[in-house]
Amino acid sequence: MSTLQFKSSRFMNKAVFFDRDGVLNYDSPNYVYDVESYEIYPDLPETVAYLKKKNYLLIVITNQAGLSRGIYNRDQMNACHKKLQESCENAFSKIYYSPYHPDQSKSLSRKPGTLLFEKAIAKFNIDVTSSWMIGDRDRDLIPAKKLGMKTVGVKRHNDFEFADFQINSLHELKQII
Ligand SMILES: [Mg+2]
Repeated sequence: MSTLQFKSSRFMNKAVFFDRDGVLNYDSPNYVYDVESYEIYPDLPETVAYLKKKNYLLIVITNQAGLSRGIYNRDQMNACHKKLQESCENAFSKIYYSPYHPDQSKSLSRKPGTLLFEKAIAKFNIDVTSSWMIGDRDRDLIPAKKLGMKTVGVKRHNDFEFADFQINSLHELKQII
């Protein structure tokens, strides 16, 4: 098999990437880490079921600088991720997080860095041209644009410069993807 054939999208997976806070679950200005108050948006389970049915891999890429700031620990974060997965029938193939705070250490893993996207693309053999990123800030969408994906901005609070599409609520993804 030639390199060209190997890279053909016929042998690759398509994916929908998601930011976490403000996209999958309600956000808070003081970080989201208490599993008791961790609450997903009501239209999430139905939306992810729809995307799974269309054979998309679902992957989360989230900045969690509260970890390196010592505001919460990985056990607390993992408890939230368990709750997220359980409410969506374990729909997410992987949840990537960047623990770094820019004041403490610069990391390409922190969005708008592309590193976690690149890891996912390599691990899951993802065709970027048939993949999407859903975020509530331009910071989420910039790395996806750089890598050649299509982008959707969820209008929670921000205007977007880098969104190909904008939606008010997750269930509207069905009209786009
Ligand atoms: Mg967010």
